[in-house]
Amino acid sequence: MHSIQAFRGRWALFGERVVENGVLLVGSSPAGPPKILATVDPWSTELPATEDLVRVWRQWDEAVPDADGAIERLSDVDCGTNAILPALVNCHSHLEFSDLPAPLLSAGCGFAEWIRAVILRRANSGDPAVTTASESFKAEVCHQGWLEMWRGGTGAVGEILSYPTPQPDYDALAWQTGPSAFRGVVFHEVLGLAPARAQASWAWAAAALTAASPETAGPVRGLSPHAPYSTSTWLYRQCAVFCQQHAVPLATHLAESPEELELLADRRGPLVSLLQDLGVWRPEEIAARNVRDVLRELAQVPRLLVVHGNYLAREDWRWLLQAQPQASIVYCPQTHAYFQHPTHPWRQMLRDGLNVALGTDSRGSSPSLSLWDDLLLLRELAPEQDPRLLWQMATRNGALALGCAERLGSLEPGKLASFCLAQVETTSDDFSWEALLSPTTRLSRDC
Ligand SMILES: [Zn+2]
Repeated sequence: MHSIQAFRGRWALFGERVVENGVLLVGSSPAGPPKILATVDPWSTELPATEDLVRVWRQWDEAVPDADGAIERLSDVDCGTNAILPALVNCHSHLEFSDLPAPLLSAGCGFAEWIRAVILRRANSGDPAVTTASESFKAEVCHQGWLEMWRGGTGAVGEILSYPTPQPDYDALAWQTGPSAFRGVVFHEVLGLAPARAQASWAWAAAALTAASPETAGPVRGLSPHAPYSTSTWLYRQCAVFCQQHAVPLATHLAESPEELELLADRRGPLVSLLQDLGVWRPEEIAARNVRDVLRELAQVPRLLVVHGNYLAREDWRWLLQAQPQASIVYCPQTHAYFQHPTHPWRQMLRDGLNVALGTDSRGSSPSLSLWDDLLLLRELAPEQDPRLLWQMATRNGALALGCAERLGSLEPGKLASFCLAQVETTSDDFSWEALLSPTTRLSRDC
């Protein structure tokens, strides 16, 4: 049965506008996710009649019945003193590590040592030869991680699905329905320097992406060549061509650590030692000598997410802006702080016109999977910045980066009803962005 319901909040963020006593009118259908039919302010105004809302709704969805009585008007939901806000968009995570109680190693650890710990952790978390037990275990770990994000106000995620560990089937999982349904982009991660390994990884990802129908209600599929030190140039090119041909988004870890830059420039350093220890060091398979060379390989990708970009030089991101205006940087504040990298250049990137979005990364490097915690950290690190700008990084910029700005990132008619509630502690009667982005604010899903 189709239904319409009004959600009333003390405040509401509709588009870029903060509205006092805002009302969000949501249409739910049995076939798809709930949509925003209208936004109204203030709530003393009479709400639109059902027939008017249905007329709007049918413009987007012909399956919506227009017969009298075929649509239930549910009783209004009073969200009390909460602010109704668009759900956050987390552009980078690896949910498979969600059962870790704390980040691997300790804060400030070397990047190569951390990668070694990640590999060890993967090796111990299940036999790569897929078994039903390990598949369901991993699916459950991913599910719990997603629910943790969702409860913390996140509505969509850029999730990296790794190869060749057992995979959760994102389309088949029961958690695809209901308000906490998984949304966002699942990036199939490929890696390998040796040709046989790279080809096996590619075969897995290409088959998965070819099999995924764009018609399914499941998440969007993307590709993620892991990083320049682990992924051959051949594999990067395979991904770039596929993404271009099929309009698929691509995410890659790039300019993340000094060790990566050292490997590219000089073919030496702690990452080379690690790859040698693992018996997988194949320098002849890496053509790039610097970050720009990697970006050149990806210049034609229709939607590129540069994950981290901690050590990206200004001339490189300016070049990227020219070559690929749709590109985004994904800054992960908690993870960045964990590795004790120097200050991230996101302020200058934004000033130069680059889209900078936020991610948590995995619990392997972030103490929390809540993007809200990243946003609060960002506020602490950048008190001079307009809090509205930081909020946009966590919402609108994230939706742009994932290519879902038409459906997510703000509350506007026609978009998905992906929202969260914020209880803002304030002594004033006015809405305050400073008060919203404060540790005393509690984000929730229920009134
Ligand atoms: Zn990552």
